[in-house]
Amino acid sequence: METNEQKNDSRHQRRKSRRIFVGDIPLGDGAPVAVQSMTNTDTRDVSSTVGQIKQLEDAGCEIVRLAIPDEIAADALHKIKAEVKAPLIADIHFDYRLAISAIKAGADGLRINPGNIGGRDKLEKVIKEARERGIPIRIGVNAGSLQKDILDKYGHPTPEAMAESALEHIRLFEDMDFNNIKISMKSSNVLNTISAYELLSGKVDYPFHLGVTEAGTLISGTVKNAIGIGMLLYKGIGDTIRVSLSRDPVEEVKAAYEILRALDLRRRGPEIISCPTCGRCEIDLFHIVETVEKGLQGITSSPKVAVMGCVVNGPGEAREADVGIAGGRGQGVLFKKGEVVDKFPEEELAWVLIREVKKLVGG
Ligand code: SF4
Repeated sequence: METNEQKNDSRHQRRKSRRIFVGDIPLGDGAPVAVQSMTNTDTRDVSSTVGQIKQLEDAGCEIVRLAIPDEIAADALHKIKAEVKAPLIADIHFDYRLAISAIKAGADGLRINPGNIGGRDKLEKVIKEARERGIPIRIGVNAGSLQKDILDKYGHPTPEAMAESALEHIRLFEDMDFNNIKISMKSSNVLNTISAYELLSGKVDYPFHLGVTEAGTLISGTVKNAIGIGMLLYKGIGDTIRVSLSRDPVEEVKAAYEILRALDLRRRGPEIISCPTCGRCEIDLFHIVETVEKGLQGITSSPKVAVMGCVVNGPGEAREADVGIAGGRGQGVLFKKGEVVDKFPEEELAWVLIREVKKLVGG
């Protein structure tokens, strides 16, 4: 059964980007689109941060970013690193010394905005340290904090302004002979985000980190990210993604995998197909599908699981799935690999389905 793999058919022609590594995770040059997220615990609180990173790892997060606001946080990074597996990226603003401390504490990558790190000489010091340790730096351009001269030129944080800002920073790094970089250009405006990446995609071959920043709550944020990230990935642009939500970061990771699944790029976890219900439904389908979703958490392979309300579309979908149910009046039919297995009362349906899926995947 397919799991967590990159598809490489003709619909997935990817922008040619150079390969870099964040820890042991490859990015670019055809590597699977990597899923990342960011902790929202206080980085200085080692046990809470380690706890959250472990939850993120369980959800499939492959790269974790942490805010490093001060030296205590940089010091904590060292202790956190010793207890987790995922590569850690230190997110630094304003103070180049924190970047150096984070590298020394074992960061696997840095995210900085070169515009606010304190000038070329400070940036040179950071790059020297990153070069010595062989770690990449993400140049993170944000529509909300563009350089003044670029803002003056364009008037607003337009896609052209964002791409020019990124290019300016890239040239600065290239001047210092440092190419171990990836690029992000984030805006809360979906169309601007898409256009900025498109503009830059033909000009450089560095890997792109995609995201729509400050995207919002679970529904609005997921939709904005799915459209912004999804449209770019569909065009072959993007090497790693972070869905940004005002929510537990574990939800970001789940949303990221759903985006990758929808584009047939990667699969992780069961695909649950469920109907919206209508006046024909005679079982409590919402309760059943929630129970099934919870019961299948932790499974990393990707069986197709159908939970359908009635006999109109139910048997068809349930037959196409690896395992499925189609509801009737207070009961339902279980299908497995296209064959009817048996009828079960409504209260048993969720558990029968969970049991059959686990048998199928060997869980
Ligand atoms: Fe309605 Fe049946 Fe379709 Fe569900 S499967 S939406 S209950 S017709």
